Amino acid sequence: MAKTEYLQGDDAQWLLKEGYCEACLRPAREWVEENRFGHVEVHGDYDSRGNLTGFLCPQCAGAS
Ligand SMILES: [Zn+2]
Repeated sequence: MAKTEYLQGDDAQWLLKEGYCEACLRPAREWVEENRFGHVEVHGDYDSRGNLTGFLCPQCAGAS
């Protein structure tokens, strides 16, 4: 299941540099949009216990 996560500061920079979509493996910098406050809005992917397991690009989040 996917839920919207907001990242900022170091977490946002990490996602842009190192992150990728769990489903299609596209680098996050290709699909993450940083707003003017330096925050990014991203779809988090969770396991059945509600633990964050990774992130999904908008296409994959929309398809699941
Ligand atoms: Zn994807």
